[in-house]
Amino acid sequence: MSDPVAQPVVKEIPPKAADLSAWYTAVCLKAELTSYSPVRGCVVLRPYGYGLWENLQKHLDAAFKETGHENAYFPLLIPESLLLKEAEHVEGFAPEVAWVTHGGQEELTERLAIRPTSEVIIGVMYAQWVESYRDLPILINQWANVLRWEKATRPFLRTMEFLWQEGHTAHATADEAREETLKMLEVYREFAESVAAVPVYAGIKSASERFPGAVETFSIEALMPDGKALQSATSHDLGQNFAKAYEITFVDADQQIKHAYTTSWGMSWRMLGAMIMTHGDDRGLRIPPKMAPIEAVFVPIVRKGDERAVEACRDAAKTLRAAGFRVKVDDRDQQPGWKYAEWDVRGVPLRIEIGPRDVDAGTAVLVRRDKAKGDPDQKTSVPLDQLAQHVRELLDAIQKSLYEEARAFLQSHTVRVAERDAFLRACRERAGMVDIPWCGTGECEARVKAETSATTRNTRPLEPGDATCVACGEPATMRAYFAQSY
Ligand SMILES: [Zn+2]
Repeated sequence: MSDPVAQPVVKEIPPKAADLSAWYTAVCLKAELTSYSPVRGCVVLRPYGYGLWENLQKHLDAAFKETGHENAYFPLLIPESLLLKEAEHVEGFAPEVAWVTHGGQEELTERLAIRPTSEVIIGVMYAQWVESYRDLPILINQWANVLRWEKATRPFLRTMEFLWQEGHTAHATADEAREETLKMLEVYREFAESVAAVPVYAGIKSASERFPGAVETFSIEALMPDGKALQSATSHDLGQNFAKAYEITFVDADQQIKHAYTTSWGMSWRMLGAMIMTHGDDRGLRIPPKMAPIEAVFVPIVRKGDERAVEACRDAAKTLRAAGFRVKVDDRDQQPGWKYAEWDVRGVPLRIEIGPRDVDAGTAVLVRRDKAKGDPDQKTSVPLDQLAQHVRELLDAIQKSLYEEARAFLQSHTVRVAERDAFLRACRERAGMVDIPWCGTGECEARVKAETSATTRNTRPLEPGDATCVACGEPATMRAYFAQSY
């Protein structure tokens, strides 16, 4: 029997600015989002962490369905012979694939890969389902776990097994496939900014950062408080590469047999890591209301012999629940101050305090988690009979304020440099997103990486006046954000 896994004991959350990594680990444990598990490289998602995942799912799933997609489910295991058919793809994923070699006592005649992603198994099925142009497009999404053999473990950011969604579509034309790729990139950008309140740069990945087997990979990139970028979702135009490898063909309207054009796109629970790092503070999490498992928590303040506050909280909670809010009444036998600190760690956007005097006056005190202690906007007293309206307004204000704060950070940490030395220095010092006109060559990118460990995050068209690559002096062909990254 293996030893139970040691959970680091978190007494206090270390200051975020001093050591983001220590802060992050402490917050994930203390807010009860995750636990380390006895399986190396795998974490347990605890109920509060799973609540975040459910809210991500809820919002993204609605956006997928609005754009015409349906959910389906494909097998976890992929026969080796199938995986080998797309050469670039298999080469890209080979170092990360885990293999099943035995079934019970019996050695398998063919190894089975545990999916690192599902292009292969889905491509094989699409080949069977598509006959005519009338069968296209196929627009399918899968909510699933995948496994990639990783050395390090960081909750949400890097784990062997992780939760994600992967969309897989097949189209009759290249234009349609490209349109789909960009449409889903926009779904991700919208989710990141409007729901998770994480501002991002959307653009095209360089050739070296492209998904193995893709014609073009697009990404959204967020910037973390330590100046490192975090790729938060990708959308791939796979051209006909997978259709050719897996024989996804159809008879077109002109009676010609053609290969389909496919796309794939994914967002994982890594997005939650981006959200946690972007918004948290020295007291713990600050969860944007749209993502919060609990939008408002009631803390009754009970005086000896006067339990009316508990009843008032329960009544008010009932009203808010009926109005569609996610709320909780914390009526545990603990001091209010202890409860405040705990809900602060968990990042609940609003705290609603009701004491005996509030009961007499028919009021409640609303306390915003996003504001610092002592900020004049942190606390407001409102009439209980208008509670729902005030809670709605404050949750909207918190959602907006968290996004604006993060956007101001991204803007102030996006630096434009015009000459090589300043560029390399900015990359080395993690100044943030270092924005330059770039030549677009792999050699130039590799040199920058060797000298500074920064890579291109994504690229976009040149702006008027851009002439030469700041990194190497050759003619510029695009603009690129360089940064060190997670
Ligand atoms: Zn260059």
